[in-house]
Amino acid sequence: PAKPMYGALLPPGLQTISNIIAVSSCKGGVGKSTVAVNLAYTLAGMGARVGIFDADVYGPSLPTMVSPENRLLEMNPEKKSIIPTEYLGVKLVSFGFAGQGRAIMRGPMVSGVIDQLLTTTEWGELDYLIIDMPPGTGDIQLTLCQVVPLTAAVIVTTPQKLAFIDVAKGVRMFSKLKVPCVAVVENMCHFDADGERYYPFGRGSGSQVVQQFGIPHLFDLPIRPTLSASGDSGIPEVVADPLGEVAKTFQELGVCL
Ligand code: ADP
Repeated sequence: PAKPMYGALLPPGLQTISNIIAVSSCKGGVGKSTVAVNLAYTLAGMGARVGIFDADVYGPSLPTMVSPENRLLEMNPEKKSIIPTEYLGVKLVSFGFAGQGRAIMRGPMVSGVIDQLLTTTEWGELDYLIIDMPPGTGDIQLTLCQVVPLTAAVIVTTPQKLAFIDVAKGVRMFSKLKVPCVAVVENMCHFDADGERYYPFGRGSGSQVVQQFGIPHLFDLPIRPTLSASGDSGIPEVVADPLGEVAKTFQELGVCL
């Protein structure tokens, strides 16, 4: 879909991007960055031109999850713009590549930094920009959603009943902003051991969410040691194991965007 809300007001740095997808969660630690990174590399594997913007200023995960040779963003002094770093053809921008220590900033400053990093970057022509959103639905997230013309949102959650309330908050935020939530990813849904499948956090709250809010797609991701190990190694699981179960799930998610 086009970006009707913004039209000519679209920040110049974002005008050459066809689809901007927010990957969002209401809590930290549910696997949002894992989903953002693997989704990005899946789309790239399908032939799309892709960028990842890690908007989690307080806890940037991108520098751990991918391992570009050049770990610092470069500046173009003439245009005062940022040149993304790159890993396997995917353009990457994260506060963690900005060469500064852990951020101690108040909300409005964070919004400013995100705005600057995102809109002054030379993204070039992209089919997809994946935004790894900061967790939650507070001011920072709202500002980000207002600056950026999002095409769609993917919400990541875990299967517990408690998470249901959080997902509802996320869906409401995006629906207020007229951004369609195309999918919920229920991460850490199950694990397989000794030929059995276990659901340690229970079942059913994901399907309840998608039914209640009319979200078209629900995906399950298993608890897998390789997903955790690949997050730490800097090579995304879908790159390391492109024919595996996880890669298949991400391909299904990729085609519904
Ligand atoms: P968030 O972005 O929501 O804070 P992360 O994607 O950083 O969460 O994930 C938190 C940690 O859990 C990371 O170490 C990641 O590798 C691990 N992790 C995420 N999903 C899975 C999974 N399905 N199986 C195993 N480990 C996972």
